[in-house]
Amino acid sequence: MPTQPSFKGNKRSLPSKLCKVCAREMTWRKAWAKNWEQVLYCSDACRQRKASAPAAS
Ligand SMILES: [Zn+2]
Repeated sequence: MPTQPSFKGNKRSLPSKLCKVCAREMTWRKAWAKNWEQVLYCSDACRQRKASAPAAS
């Protein structure tokens, strides 16, 4: 029997995307509600990694 999450809504309905650096899936957070479209990295660590290692296009 699956564990019932305390979260009321359907978790799967939340948007998600992949971190540009580590490709880890990031699930929508309330803290990102205002700038979700601009969120590219899962953490500050990834943001800094990207800054120090620019991708060659
Ligand atoms: Zn990341």
